[in-house]
Amino acid sequence: MTYDNENIFAKILRGEIPCDKVYESDHALAFRDIQPLTPVHVLVIPKGAYVNMDDFSQKASEEELADFVRAVGQVARDLGVVEAGYRTIANNGADAHQEVQHLHVHILAGRDLGGMIQRFKDQ
Ligand code: AMP
Repeated sequence: MTYDNENIFAKILRGEIPCDKVYESDHALAFRDIQPLTPVHVLVIPKGAYVNMDDFSQKASEEELADFVRAVGQVARDLGVVEAGYRTIANNGADAHQEVQHLHVHILAGRDLGGMIQRFKDQ
């Protein structure tokens, strides 16, 4: 799995393009999605160069892993969405339609999000 240093989130991390930052820690950054799908739509990314969850879960240090998971929880609390509820999604690879090849967890909230996913039609 090769990490592309020119992906859009790598550019955000280097400060080459702006983002609407909501949170930053030693190993994580969170910012609002540029095309929100819900009233609250924030992306949490590790600062390290990891393509997706498969890459991150194998190569990240314990400190990075802990910091990232804590960042997701902290951002949800900061956004005030814990009580009403929120959804976290990480798209990984082609079948999941991952568009940006730097690991990111979507935090979606601010309205009733409906069922988790449409049932596979052949079932
Ligand atoms: P995914 O399909 O899981 O890879 O989602 C990529 C997400 O990144 C989409 O929801 C995009 O709207 C979002 N996105 C792309 N470029 C930017 C950007 N410059 N700032 C914030 N969000 C972005």
